Amino acid sequence: MSETHHTKVLIIGSGPAGYTAGVYAARAMLSPILVQGMEPGGQLTTTTEVENYPGFTEVQGPELMVKMQDHAAAMGTTIIQDIITDLDLTKRPFTARGDSGDIYTADSVILATGARAKWLGLPSEDKFKGFGVSACATCDGFFYREKNIVVVGGGNTAVEEALFLTNFGQKVTLIHRRDELRAEKILQNRLFKHPKVEVLWDHTIDEIVGTDMPMGVTGVRARHVKTGAITEVPADGVFIAIGHAPASELVKDVLELHNGGYVKVEPGTTRTSIPGVFAAGDLTDHVYRQAVTSAGMGCMAALDAEKFIAEMDDVTETVVTEIA
Ligand SMILES: Cc1cc2nc3c(=O)[nH]c(=O)nc-3n(C[C@H](O)[C@H](O)[C@H](O)COP(=O)(O)OP(=O)(O)OC[C@H]3O[C@@H](n4cnc5c(N)ncnc54)[C@H](O)[C@@H]3O)c2cc1C
Repeated sequence: MSETHHTKVLIIGSGPAGYTAGVYAARAMLSPILVQGMEPGGQLTTTTEVENYPGFTEVQGPELMVKMQDHAAAMGTTIIQDIITDLDLTKRPFTARGDSGDIYTADSVILATGARAKWLGLPSEDKFKGFGVSACATCDGFFYREKNIVVVGGGNTAVEEALFLTNFGQKVTLIHRRDELRAEKILQNRLFKHPKVEVLWDHTIDEIVGTDMPMGVTGVRARHVKTGAITEVPADGVFIAIGHAPASELVKDVLELHNGGYVKVEPGTTRTSIPGVFAAGDLTDHVYRQAVTSAGMGCMAALDAEKFIAEMDDVTETVVTEIA
């Protein structure tokens, strides 16, 4: 039977942003409810080693997220396995509907629904994700020191990732399906001048090739878009840099978005265009997209929500006193 839950703080999403918001909101005695969504633990559950989360020289992504979940629960966050399918932010208390049929009403909402890297959609890409195929140079570049690296894409992200990866790889091949890049000219100039970079124009990826034992990438099979000719490019790491899609569907018609769908927040805060609604993590960040920055924003969102609720309580108290 469906239930209605009321909370001072409803946290939507169970990545680093959501769980950190849970830790802080629970420790502020706000008894938060956190709804996990379709991917409990978020993006890090899809990776293997994480080497850049402070306090852990190396930890498996899923293990780190179980620790974060346990931490949030231990502090007093109620964690619910449900998916929010509908969110009414037009009046307070805000109302969310879960896929389970449950209703959540809340004095404030922290949106932490993250983002998704866009992928090419090849079965071989899926097979080697976390074993040579990545969508995050900051996260995984370090694993390809003195190796051959392929970057796929033609926008700012692809060129920035390719340039960043020159710090590690012995050679970086950027593969783009057109004969010119969309990236800013200044980035293009840096790319073209770099001695470690080669650009393969007018090519798409047919297949990422590799070995099963041990699981790893050995190269890509690229196809010329006009002639159909196949080129085999040796690679130990393949970085797909064709963009990210923030998970902002729930709020796209009611909150201000920018940069292709990211929720806009007031600079230096997590406040969105609706008072009482806060956004944290990759959902609002098209620049850093890291676990630690998401966790940091989760902390900010809980503190912002706590302040909002305290101010709301002050107003209610004043009104009650005036009427009395
Ligand atoms: C393969 C891979 C490797 C990475 N490696 C690293 C690394 O080594 N170091 C690093 O710092 N970062 C890494 N990152 C990036 C890092 O994972 C993200 O920056 C971080 O997870 C973002 O956290 P988040 O809390 O904003 O959202 P996410 O982790 O994206 O989580 C979003 C959450 O929202 C939930 N959700 C979405 N929609 C709904 C809904 N309708 N209702 C309820 N819940 C919903 C999902 O279930 C999920 O739990 C990696 C990313 C990937 C994909």
